[in-house]
Amino acid sequence: MSRVMPMLSKSKFVGGWQCEKKAFLTARFPKLATPFDAATLARFAGGTRFGELAQSVWPGGVLIDSPAYRHDASVEWTRELVDGDVVDVIFEAGFTELGTRVRADVMIRNRDSGKWDLIEVKSSSSAKKVHDVDMAIQRAVIEASGVKVGTTSVMLVDSSYVRGAGGVSTDGLFKIVDRTSAVEALLPEMIELNSHLHDVINSETAPDIGIGPHCEEPYGCQFFEHCTADRPRDWIKTLPGFGLKKTVEFEAQGVVGISHVSSDTGLNSLQSRAVKSTNSGKQWVSERLSDDLSNVEYPLRFIDFETAAPTVPMYESTSPREVIAFQWSCHTLGADGRLDHSDYLASGEVDPRREFVESLLRAVGSSGSVLVYSSYEQTTLRKLAELFPDLESRINDLIFRFVDLLSLVRDNYYHPAFRGSFSIKRVLPVMVPGYDYSDLAIGEGETASAAFVDIVEGRVDEDELDDVLFDLLEYCKRDTEAMVRIWQRLQAIAMNGES
Ligand code: SF4
Repeated sequence: MSRVMPMLSKSKFVGGWQCEKKAFLTARFPKLATPFDAATLARFAGGTRFGELAQSVWPGGVLIDSPAYRHDASVEWTRELVDGDVVDVIFEAGFTELGTRVRADVMIRNRDSGKWDLIEVKSSSSAKKVHDVDMAIQRAVIEASGVKVGTTSVMLVDSSYVRGAGGVSTDGLFKIVDRTSAVEALLPEMIELNSHLHDVINSETAPDIGIGPHCEEPYGCQFFEHCTADRPRDWIKTLPGFGLKKTVEFEAQGVVGISHVSSDTGLNSLQSRAVKSTNSGKQWVSERLSDDLSNVEYPLRFIDFETAAPTVPMYESTSPREVIAFQWSCHTLGADGRLDHSDYLASGEVDPRREFVESLLRAVGSSGSVLVYSSYEQTTLRKLAELFPDLESRINDLIFRFVDLLSLVRDNYYHPAFRGSFSIKRVLPVMVPGYDYSDLAIGEGETASAAFVDIVEGRVDEDELDDVLFDLLEYCKRDTEAMVRIWQRLQAIAMNGES
């Protein structure tokens, strides 16, 4: 049986612009891709909703809603509308030419010039090179099909937009940036690349391309696990702060595993201690751990926030991607070892920020150190202090009591199983075996944010609402509980004189 020759789609083309091997693997071995995680899927869903909202700017537009696997039907339907004289705006118009399939977000008939203007909708706030690439392949395919293209623009979110009392208005939320010259300048190169990528995806062997910074830019590549499957368990990239650029530099010198590192050259002190710990297979403990742990005042308050920053603002007087703090959790550990918990979760009906900060200030009182994990809570509180000047001094007093547990761990402890990461999700199960996040329905921050936005925007059914609220409460509670356990483990290490 003869093999069906793979075609390119717009997304495969853009993937191939990022890395030819990515185009090959996507076209020929898609099952080797690591599935998207919940947070990425939530981000995609947000992008889709943004695109749908953008369509409402042109109420008379016709949506070609044939699914991607019925591309030929979308091409046929598009052709009818383009050849007819009734419809002036088409959404998701389909074309196949040059061996490549594209769908155009918005096409507008310009009756004066007799051409069609193209608009690509992106939920970012500034135009990027990858947008131009995306539009250039569309333009090339559409023009090859005989349709004359006029301008090529990108429709973005306008960060200066402020939601008014009457809800979201599409007037002002979007900005259209003309990219015609940049796209036209790219056309010859993109047409050549399109032809080259067809050779690539029809070849029997994958292009010989190694990993590098291109695996993360402009998008994280789903084949990263596949392309690095041959790396040893102690891969040099598992050192703290080792990005792909540095990893590739070390690999080029034959240093692939941490065990191959023969000197401290090019490593900072954190990386050097990680090398020592990994090679010995033992934890590393600083000599000043006890002193650092004693710089606190009981009761200890362990706090954590959840926030959301949706592209389309959820509340009056807020702007795209403005941070909305909607949840906190606080575990209080007394000097006698007693542990109490309190928390707050917004209902979502009104902007919760004032209630969030007032309830937090009440919960943490005026005494005791306040432990956070990273600087995120401080950044969030500083924004709230700007928003509510009457609370500024109380918020500053609270920040003054902060102790960063993440810095405490990073400065005083390393375990080979951290594999270069100090994220609480990595640190907890290593330092406190048996504790992790695997039993939770919501297991990380981006999914929590997306769940809250879904509640506010009415996408959670009433019979599911209690479960989602429970999942959110459990997730934030787990974060502060994790901090308590890590703190207690550090104390035990200091007390036992472990090294
Ligand atoms: S992981 Fe990197 S090298 Fe491998 S296909 Fe993706 S971008 Fe290309």
